[in-house]
Amino acid sequence: MCRHLAYLGERATLASVVMEPEHSLFRQAWAPRLQRYGTVNADGFGVGWYADDDDLPARYRRAVPMWADSSFADVARVTRTRCLLAAVRSATPGMTADESAAAPFSSGRWLFSHNGAVSGWPESLARLAATLPPGRLLARESTVDSALLWALVLARLDEGDDPAEALSAVVLNASAAATGRYNFLLTNGDRIWATAYGDTLFWRAGEHGTVVASEPYDERPEWREAPDRSVLIASRDGVDVEPLRPARKETAAP
Ligand code: GLN
Repeated sequence: MCRHLAYLGERATLASVVMEPEHSLFRQAWAPRLQRYGTVNADGFGVGWYADDDDLPARYRRAVPMWADSSFADVARVTRTRCLLAAVRSATPGMTADESAAAPFSSGRWLFSHNGAVSGWPESLARLAATLPPGRLLARESTVDSALLWALVLARLDEGDDPAEALSAVVLNASAAATGRYNFLLTNGDRIWATAYGDTLFWRAGEHGTVVASEPYDERPEWREAPDRSVLIASRDGVDVEPLRPARKETAAP
């Protein structure tokens, strides 16, 4: 299904991260190397990034393939950032094709992407959706499955949950309700969190920055693969990979 990527590091152009590497996300739109589900990622794309002088990330999303948008190539060549999240989309059959379904989804400083699909959608997640307050359900950015998963994650983040626990909890709850693939990618501009559940996830920490991606974008030997059912946490100091962890909520004594 989709391919996604997040970068945290020295100031770099969007193009140097997303378009220029030999097997960049741009190229993965038509020639992914490790994609197990779907063949091309031509159902839209999106990039979210942080500017040095603004608190909130900017997003550029389109319903067309990345290769069909020459304006994006121009913007990407001259726009610099220390953190970005980007995705190219292969829509799950039955999902809306419009721009609203293209990741990243956002709220405040958060940027989020989902690489995967949910079997039995939407009935399979109806009970989980019903745990959300109606206002949050109605405020979903899109009808795509990924937007519901994002609403579930965001509800936990807004309650102050640790991001690794919020992502883990939604993966565990959703996968208990519906078989599926739940590779999430989340950033707030300072850290990256990601889950591997059903699809590939790689990371590379170099001297100029850290990249977390569905698949390596070049042949460098530093790429590492995160095991399935893990959560990855990347900061400017390093990368941790752990098994998915359920939220450690305090429970009242009986
Ligand atoms: N299910 C999501 C969608 O339709 C994500 C698809 C994907 O990972 N390819 O957009």
